[in-house]
Amino acid sequence: MKCAMCKRGDTKPGVTSVLLTRDDFTLVMRDVPAEICEICGEDYIDGKVAKSLYHMAEEIQNQGTLLDVRKYQVIQKNPCPVEG
Ligand SMILES: [Zn+2]
Repeated sequence: MKCAMCKRGDTKPGVTSVLLTRDDFTLVMRDVPAEICEICGEDYIDGKVAKSLYHMAEEIQNQGTLLDVRKYQVIQKNPCPVEG
């Protein structure tokens, strides 16, 4: 798609880092799938991905964490959870 920031570049699938803050909680999520503009580098995160990010941030914050850096992983509800 065309980039809305620079209006010149085209976006390509890639990964980006996202900084989420809420109250005194800070989360850095690495390797988040996004469409990246090849000219200005603006990233466009899918609504579904953004939603799962906020969900993950909420869970991590609920554990009493103030600062965390995570690698983005798609949460999959597995009918037969494998205990690791
Ligand atoms: Zn751009």
